[in-house]
Amino acid sequence: MKVVTVGTGMAASEFVERLRLDGFTDDIVMCSDEEFAPYSPCVIPFYLAGEPLETVYWKGSDFYDRYRVMPRLSDPVVEVDAQRRMVRTTAGRTESYDRLFFASGARSWYPRPEWLDTHGVFGFKTLTDMVAIDRYIREHDVRQAVVFGGGFIGVDAALALWHRGLDITLVHRNTRVLSQMTDEEGGQFATRKLAEKTGLDIRLKTTVTDIVAPAGQLSGVRFSDDTTMETTLLIVAIGVSPNSEPLRGDDKGVPSDRQMLADAGIYTAGDVAVTPHAVTGEAGVYATYPNAMRQARTAAQHLLHGDGSYAGSINTNVLKKHIDFPIVSAGSFTGEPVTWQQGDIWRRVYLQDGMINGYIIIGDTRMSGYVYQLYVSRQRVDRTIGSILASPHHDAYYRQVTGCNV
Ligand SMILES: Cc1cc2nc3c(=O)[nH]c(=O)nc-3n(C[C@H](O)[C@H](O)[C@H](O)COP(=O)(O)OP(=O)(O)OC[C@H]3O[C@@H](n4cnc5c(N)ncnc54)[C@H](O)[C@@H]3O)c2cc1C
Repeated sequence: MKVVTVGTGMAASEFVERLRLDGFTDDIVMCSDEEFAPYSPCVIPFYLAGEPLETVYWKGSDFYDRYRVMPRLSDPVVEVDAQRRMVRTTAGRTESYDRLFFASGARSWYPRPEWLDTHGVFGFKTLTDMVAIDRYIREHDVRQAVVFGGGFIGVDAALALWHRGLDITLVHRNTRVLSQMTDEEGGQFATRKLAEKTGLDIRLKTTVTDIVAPAGQLSGVRFSDDTTMETTLLIVAIGVSPNSEPLRGDDKGVPSDRQMLADAGIYTAGDVAVTPHAVTGEAGVYATYPNAMRQARTAAQHLLHGDGSYAGSINTNVLKKHIDFPIVSAGSFTGEPVTWQQGDIWRRVYLQDGMINGYIIIGDTRMSGYVYQLYVSRQRVDRTIGSILASPHHDAYYRQVTGCNV
C-alpha cells in the first residue's frame, strides 16, 4: 500500500513516524513546497532569535533517510484527483497513492498580495520565511522593524526580533494584543506588561494601510492614523488561510470525520483540518501543535489497524517564548469570571454551571496543567476555584494531593 503525504510539516512527519515505528514497510512519498527536512514551526522563531538552524528539525535532519521516505521537495501539490488517486504538482509531476495524508497547513494572509513582491516585506509562517528574514537583516544591517498583527504569531515575531536586538513597533487593530487568546481585561494586562518588560512600541487600534517602496524596496509604512514611519523591515502576521485548495478548491479547510478521513482513502490533519471541539463540539480549524499530533496519530492508527477515534480539538494557546512572562489560555471567555491577581500574575477562569468554560493565566502559569485537566474533564470547581487560582504551590502540589498527572 503506497502512502503519499501532502506536506512535510508537524502532522505529516508525526504520521509517517508512527507508521514506520508501527512496522509499516511499504512505500512512503512526502511532498512539500519547501526544501527542508520536517521542522517545527513552533521553534522557528528561536532560529531568528539566534539559535542554530539544526534545532528546528524536531525529528532529526536525517528524517527522510531514517524512515525510508522518498521526498518530493520544492514542488507544491496543486491538485488531488481523488477519483484516480493521484496528486499533481506545479512542475507537472504526478504521484499515485493508495492512501493520501493531506496536511498542507496554512499560509500567511496579506491584505494586499502585491506587498509580497516587495523587498523587506515578509510573512512569519515557514522556515523559508525565517531564512529569508535572517539573511535580509544581516545583509541590510536592519536595526528596527514593524510587525503588523498582534495575535499569537505577531507577538512571537515581535519578541523573537526584540530578543535579537531590534527595536520593534507592533501594530494591532484591536484594543489589546493577543486578542483571540484573552478577554479584554486580561489582554490589557498582558499588553501593558509586555510593553513594560520589553520596551516594545505597541500601537493599538491601528493598522498598516500602505507601504512606501520605491523601486520595490521597502522604505516606510503608513498607518491608519495617517502617520508614517521609516522602516526597511515589515513582518505581516495578521492571519492565515488553510492550504486546502488542492483538495477542496477553496481555502476554508478540510472537514474530517472522527477517523480523520476527509474522503475515501484521504486522511487529513493539522492546520488545514476542520475538526470538532472536544468540549463544545463546534467545528473549526484548531491550529495548534497538540491537536495536529493527536489527529496524525488517530489517522495512523486507523490506517494500520482500522480503529481509533479522534476525541476532538482543544483551543489552547501557550505563549512561552523569548521572555519570562508566559501566557496560557483555553476555552471560551463567557460565563461567570473568577479572577486572582498579584503583581505580574493575573489568572481568570470563566465558570458555567460550576464548570470551567475557559481560562486565561498570565505571568506564572505553573498551575495551568491542573486547570486544563479540570476544564477538559468537566469537573465542578465552583467551591475550590478561588484557592486553586491563588495557590502558590502549582502543579507539583496537585500531583501530590490528587495523584493525577497534570
Ligand atoms: C511562528 C509559529 C509559531 C508557532 N508556535 C506554536 C506554539 O508555540 N504552540 C503550538 O501549539 N503551535 C504553534 N504554532 C502552530 C503549529 O506550528 C502548527 O499548529 C503545526 O505546525 C501544524 O502542523 P501542520 O503539519 O498542519 O502544518 P505545518 O507544520 O505548517 O506543515 C505544513 C506543510 O505543508 C507544506 N505545504 C503547504 N502547501 C503545500 C502544497 N501545496 N504542496 C505541498 N506541500 C505543501 C508546507 O511546506 C509544510 O511542510 C506556531 C506556528 C507558527 C507559524
